[in-house]
Amino acid sequence: MLRLKRGRDRRARTHPWIFKGDVADVSDVTAGDAVTVLDAGGRFVGRGLFNPRPALCCRIYTWIDEPLDRAFVAGRIPTAVQAREGCGREAVRLVWSEADGLPGLVVDRYGPVLVVQCLTLGMARHRAGVVAALRERLGDLPVVSMDDATMADLEGFEPVAGWLDRQGPDEVVVDEAGVRVAVRPGTGHKTGLYLDQAENRARVAVADGRGDVLDVFAYSAGFACHALRAGGARAVCVESSAEAVAAARRNFELNGFADRAEIRAVNAFDELRRLDRERERFDLVVLDPPPFARGRTALASALRGYKEINLRALRVLAPGGRLATFSCSHHVDETTFEATCHDAAADAGVRLRVLDRLGQAADHPMLLTVPETRYLKGLLLEAL
Ligand code: SAH
Repeated sequence: MLRLKRGRDRRARTHPWIFKGDVADVSDVTAGDAVTVLDAGGRFVGRGLFNPRPALCCRIYTWIDEPLDRAFVAGRIPTAVQAREGCGREAVRLVWSEADGLPGLVVDRYGPVLVVQCLTLGMARHRAGVVAALRERLGDLPVVSMDDATMADLEGFEPVAGWLDRQGPDEVVVDEAGVRVAVRPGTGHKTGLYLDQAENRARVAVADGRGDVLDVFAYSAGFACHALRAGGARAVCVESSAEAVAAARRNFELNGFADRAEIRAVNAFDELRRLDRERERFDLVVLDPPPFARGRTALASALRGYKEINLRALRVLAPGGRLATFSCSHHVDETTFEATCHDAAADAGVRLRVLDRLGQAADHPMLLTVPETRYLKGLLLEAL
């Protein structure tokens, strides 16, 4: 049993996270097990998985007085999978943690392969049940586990990395809105692809579809591939990770774009400065950096980073060109991000039309009462 401090139940009735500072007392529960959450007056709030080790010590799964056991967790899987049916994507997030009522669990599908990631001790204990439920719904697919080592350390469990009970393919090629994309299951960033950007990759390309493209922080060149497919003349990718550069090269070859594409394995900040100095100009610039603000304290320097890259990007934009600019930092909200882009535009002396406000793909649903589920913000801008 976990009893909340007075006044802490209001948030806990709609938000799954309970921090140590919210807790009055805990009894009769071991790390990783289910615990009943009560308010200060002893009334039932919900049931969650408990871990005394991290500051975020309990995540609520249900606000109904029902068992939180293997059958409960397995029962949430078909609902999450069903929500993605008919989306037409071969690479798709099937389960996204809190947003699917399964905090600590991520499941992605890449064609015939599933990737499972457990982010909490409690969920790691449910791994076998999760895999069984997935296979019951989707067929006997090979499953690769890709636990995050940092989270595993924080939570105190042994991360599992690799194929679970039988080997799957080294490479899978999936279709993403007409672009062929190679994924090496169990390797790369996230679980292989930045699935949260899947819809934006197609959207930004269709909005443009001509001229020269600069894809900065390109990873496996998804934005560049879509832009070339939509009729872009030439693409330059900027990406510092060797693994990502190899993936980008592979995707260009797969799509027959190798002769129109160039990959520069350099630091994006330096390259943007150099491109500006050399007066190179592009009709479409994509800026999709990693999260600059990993914590609240890093916010000021993160905003300086966002401003710097947006300013440089605007300087290399051809007249009438378009900039697709993103932030995936949880701690930078939409208003702050837009203000930073505004600031960069003012410094660059460029007037911009907002063609679209962009967010994360529909397989990363947002919960109104859990603002942390909303993290990816973007603007598609056109220089006037
Ligand atoms: N646009 C990509 C996702 C980009 S994620 C897509 O749609 O798939 C951010 C990428 O920036 C990562 O691949 C990371 O390796 C790269 N990166 C991080 N810091 C960088 C830097 N300073 N210079 C260049 N690339 C960087």
